Amino acid sequence: MNVSNLRLKDKVAIVTGAGSGIGEAAAYTFAREGARVVLVGRREAPLLSNVAAISQAGGEAIVVAADVSLSGEVERVVAETLDRFGRIDCVFNNAGIQGNGDPIVAMEETSFDELIAVNLKGPWLLTRAALRIMLNGGQDGAIVNTSSFLSTGATAGTSVYSASKAGLDAMTRAVALEVGDKGIRINNVNPGVIDTPMLRAHGEEIIPPLAARAALGRIGTPQDIADVAVWLCTDEARFITGQSILVDGGFTIPGPR
Ligand code: NAP
Repeated sequence: MNVSNLRLKDKVAIVTGAGSGIGEAAAYTFAREGARVVLVGRREAPLLSNVAAISQAGGEAIVVAADVSLSGEVERVVAETLDRFGRIDCVFNNAGIQGNGDPIVAMEETSFDELIAVNLKGPWLLTRAALRIMLNGGQDGAIVNTSSFLSTGATAGTSVYSASKAGLDAMTRAVALEVGDKGIRINNVNPGVIDTPMLRAHGEEIIPPLAARAALGRIGTPQDIADVAVWLCTDEARFITGQSILVDGGFTIPGPR
């Protein structure tokens, strides 16, 4: 490995939902680029095993088990990050839930509250907390949220999920205007259909038709998204802010198939 080519050398990155799927791939990718990584999620065991793998590969990472929808827990994530690494340079707000796919008439109000709390309020809380540190320190920074192709699209059963992700797209535009002149960027990566536990929960049989719909003839891998999310945090993306970048292999290109 040529250490002089590391794109995030000595940076500190917080990754939520880092125990599985896209967040797991992103945690490894941040570490490979030289960042010190804080892995966040509710279940501690998968986070610990990912930290062990990062450490074994020569990287530096810690676990903070926390629920991103709770303000006190998000404050603890930031406090433990500062305690261990002294700074925050990158935040990947990736943790999310999809709900059970019920149509609106069958949904409980509690499902609405939970989806919005995890998918929208969580990123808002951590963005707010991280920005307060970045702005106080007079430093640059980069924030990326995991939105979705469903922020602009929809399937039956995604009324609240789609709304939560559209909320992220909107939040990102506003925050970009608030902090751009301080050298801080914020963007979304909007995945198409990606092979993670969230997708696999629907059963194997849904995958071939989804793959066939994409121009590239396959569903995405977690790494397909992680690479874009991490790239958005590097200097190569220095003139990109307030954007929602669709990474879907051509899945949503309109027209008959
Ligand atoms: P995943 O493997 O289920 O990852 C979601 C992660 O979020 C889990 O590790 C989960 O860990 C964590 N999480 C959930 N609720 C949390 C909370 N309240 N606090 C902290 N962590 C929490 O699925 P994924 O596909 O990688 O999902 C990552 C993101 O991609 C999500 O925002 C999802 O909406 C988005 N996305 C996925 C697809 C796709 O096709 N897979 C497409 C578009 C967008 P714990 O349960 O341990 O907390």
